[in-house]
Amino acid sequence: MQATVALAGNPNSGKTTLFNELTGARQHVGNYPGVTVEKKEGTYTHRDFLLHVVDLPGTYSLTAYSLEEVVARDYLVNEKPEVVINIVDSSNLERNLYLAVQFLEMGIPVCIALNMIDVAKKRGIEINADKLSKLLGVPVIPTIARTGQGKTELMESAAHIVQARKRYPALKISYGDDVDRAMLTMEEEIATNGFLTDTYPVRWIALKYMEKDEQILNLGRKLNPELSTRLEAMVQKVSNHLLNTLDTYPEAMIADQRYGYINSILKQGVIYQKYDPNRLYSSDKIDKVLTNRFLGPIIMLVVIAGLFHLVFTYSAAPVGWLESFFDWLGHSLYTILPDGLLRSLIVSGIIDGVGGVLGFVPLIMFMFFGIAFLEDSGYLARVAFMLDRVFRIFGLHGSSVMAFIVSGGIAGGCAVPGVMATRTLKSPRERMATLLTVPFMNCGAKLPVFALLIAAFFARYEAAIMFGITLGAWAGALLVAKLLRVTVIKGASTPFVMELPPYRMPTFKGLAIHTWERTWQYVKKAGTVILGFSIILWAMMTFPVLPESNMAEFESRRQSLLDSVPGSVRAELQRAGTGPGLSGAALNFQKQLRQIDYAEAEAGLRHSVAGRIGTALESVSHWAGFDWRTNIALIGGFAAKEVMVSTLGTAYSLGEVDPEESGSLSMTLARDPGWSPLMALGLIVFTMFYAPCFVSVVCISKESGSWKWGAFAIVFNTLLAFGLAVLIFQTGSALGVLLS
Ligand code: GDP
Ligand code: MG
Repeated sequence: MQATVALAGNPNSGKTTLFNELTGARQHVGNYPGVTVEKKEGTYTHRDFLLHVVDLPGTYSLTAYSLEEVVARDYLVNEKPEVVINIVDSSNLERNLYLAVQFLEMGIPVCIALNMIDVAKKRGIEINADKLSKLLGVPVIPTIARTGQGKTELMESAAHIVQARKRYPALKISYGDDVDRAMLTMEEEIATNGFLTDTYPVRWIALKYMEKDEQILNLGRKLNPELSTRLEAMVQKVSNHLLNTLDTYPEAMIADQRYGYINSILKQGVIYQKYDPNRLYSSDKIDKVLTNRFLGPIIMLVVIAGLFHLVFTYSAAPVGWLESFFDWLGHSLYTILPDGLLRSLIVSGIIDGVGGVLGFVPLIMFMFFGIAFLEDSGYLARVAFMLDRVFRIFGLHGSSVMAFIVSGGIAGGCAVPGVMATRTLKSPRERMATLLTVPFMNCGAKLPVFALLIAAFFARYEAAIMFGITLGAWAGALLVAKLLRVTVIKGASTPFVMELPPYRMPTFKGLAIHTWERTWQYVKKAGTVILGFSIILWAMMTFPVLPESNMAEFESRRQSLLDSVPGSVRAELQRAGTGPGLSGAALNFQKQLRQIDYAEAEAGLRHSVAGRIGTALESVSHWAGFDWRTNIALIGGFAAKEVMVSTLGTAYSLGEVDPEESGSLSMTLARDPGWSPLMALGLIVFTMFYAPCFVSVVCISKESGSWKWGAFAIVFNTLLAFGLAVLIFQTGSALGVLLS
């Protein structure tokens, strides 16, 4: 067997020493074409194989910053050696692995020589080569180049790589949310245009654009100036964004994340430093506490519970102000506008619908601010790191954690980007399990539903219930993932490593921008999708209107009530209107009149399209305690979960005609005899787990490559949710708890 082996590594890692040790006298020295960089070549023979060995120039990186880097990279790309031996200085492992990561990012077959282990040992550093090999997914062989120790084993594993002809998929690491998202779009452009893809992996080209690699940029500009300009503009956009939010550049961000990746590998028992504690960096010191086996999880729970507590405490007042504002607006328009369909559309359809959703903007904003803080500071990555161990048990990946968090794992996210985020998962099975379970997280759209029900029935336990909902969502997602992984998508897990970027103090400006971006998306959704669905659902709840004969019947009931009123009361009402200080008889009359109005409105709602659907579903939904109005809201929730709030708002404002007595929707629900805390609890659980919203279903179908999975998500999730809601309602009713 014959093959070419390239020796690569940082300067002074022992490349030349190893090269001499391998080739002895069988070597010759020349130059790389066109440059004055020395090129040493030689041969190594062992048993039945003959390896052609090339000593590459020493480099720290594969970015075209220096001549050595360009030469080394060009050689790898153009000559395509069958295998690269990356010589690593073990006494300086973290820094040396930076180059190794870049080989892996290029998808080059690599074998690592853990050189100078004698030096490392002298400095009190112990390295677990097997563990490192498992985590990186490449052979790692300890060597001492100076004595030739380990060289045979090294060459054997290099030869093995050649013989096995294994394909190496390029390593995908996350470069932070902003860069990742831009890279995904860039990769799509690059792949569809076949831009430089003959020579380089797609993601790597995007990465080099992100790093502003002169060589690739020049190549790209020549090949396809129009596309190159577009890619550069995308990079510029992320660049500006990073500068504004995190005060950093894509290049720095990428380097940080690569070191984060290395860092988290080393933290998993790969390296053990017996002494020399001065080498600890401050991020390491913080991590000693925050990711400690025992303290870490406790701190994590405290931090998240604290976040909820702060968010609910400080958002209560502004949420109240907004709610009263929309109440006031509704009442004012109700008095100004003439009775009829237009008034009903504006007050019941639009204001109650959209207002119900917008009322929660302060809460959402506080939540986003808290999450932005955790994310920008680097703590969120630690949360993912700690949960990794747990996730493996359920057949998921550490990087599933990020997808879950994006979807609302801490509260306030969206399953759509969550489903997208699963693209970074390398194993298809774990990816499927993740994308089918991210909709269980508490996305920003479910928050207003929870907030409404909590305010109505569990006001005193807000933070505790919210915390429980969060834990419940995770438990549900993990158990379902496990179920899926042992049934429809079974198979082995892939070893995996996460990035642990250094901690940094978030800037207020950065937090403000991140918060605003997400809040604005929410507001935009309220103004477009939600507005649209509010109007459609209002129409479904209004048409067909009651037949004339039924209306006439209510009119005649009203008339006969009026006829029965004594003249004195009628005079009093004409004088004082609806103001305070009415006599008992007058109040009684008003109440009776209201009851007729209410009955008419309810008859109208039941007669409508939505009412008929809701009523038809009641025969099943009563097992969970849901009445026909709740059913209407749940159907609306399939369009978008916030629509549940607006639909309940519309349903209850259509059925309730007395603006003087009406308060916020949560008060209305709390007062309604058809509702109980138990039913609200069942509804919360149902909302957590039932069918993902329409947009998520589309995304799941697209990402999984089949509409069958989208349909699966709708049917499976709804059945699961219904089962849970019935269980809660029936058990609670039997035990007689939470009934009022
Ligand atoms: P290069 O820059 O990567 O080509 O590194 P060299 O091969 O020139 O080695 C740099 C220095 O490290 C030389 O003084 C070598 O003798 C020394 N060296 C190389 N490998 C080892 C090793 O495994 N153990 C020890 N103790 N020294 C080594
Ligand atoms: Mg050298």
